[in-house]
Amino acid sequence: MFHYFIIGFISLLSFSCNSNDKKVNSEKDLNIAEIKISNKLMNSTALTKAFVLGKFDYSKDSTFTQVNIAFTHKTVFLKKETYNAFLAMADSAKKSGITLAIYSGTRNYVEQKSIWERKWNKYGTLKPLERVNKILEYSAMPGSSRHHWGTDIDLNSLNNSYFNRGNGLKVYMWLKNNANTFGFYQVYTDKSSGRKGYNLEKWHWSYLPLASKYLKFYNAEVTSEDIEGFSGSEYAEQVNIIDDYVNGLALSVKNYK
Ligand SMILES: [Zn+2]
Repeated sequence: MFHYFIIGFISLLSFSCNSNDKKVNSEKDLNIAEIKISNKLMNSTALTKAFVLGKFDYSKDSTFTQVNIAFTHKTVFLKKETYNAFLAMADSAKKSGITLAIYSGTRNYVEQKSIWERKWNKYGTLKPLERVNKILEYSAMPGSSRHHWGTDIDLNSLNNSYFNRGNGLKVYMWLKNNANTFGFYQVYTDKSSGRKGYNLEKWHWSYLPLASKYLKFYNAEVTSEDIEGFSGSEYAEQVNIIDDYVNGLALSVKNYK
């Protein structure tokens, strides 16, 4: 594996060195080409139901890697392909004076369950269905989160208002204008298009070259009966967890090919 990494690194270097001669159209073209080359070298995890439901240990999976602490204040893992694309994006952002930091990356079923149960207890005064809907404003049921896949990242802040002014607004505008070039899309936009599911999340960006494949598999293999094993899971079907939440996506994400 290390051997392939070295070859990949050398080929990346030579590609970069030759790029001026080949008159690559723009920096963006170069970055996406670099991502494609390096991603060819990666192994891909077998796509299984357990994987898309988050029932695995990403820290022991060779297709995942830990994010450098230069980009995050905690232990974060991502699929290697996602991380390569993020590095290219962060590098380009830096040249425009924008710093991208990863607040959250992969979370497996167990971790999502602990978030869910904490909020379940927090909203203990509500009736069960209201409780479920309250948590679902921003948090996924365990087994239904895109964060299970190693493709989705929360950037810079978990507060929409941060992105409305000052530095946060600059970050958000840069992402809106450039992230798609690197394969990252905002998944939970405002609901003016009729999108259902989670509220607006300006921080949540998904690496669609991988995530779109995983969603397709998820929709083919998973039913609401698979969303189980936590408080309130009996409401999974009633709240349309798969149709309205797993598939409650921005149009650009739904239409991604
Ligand atoms: Zn997120």
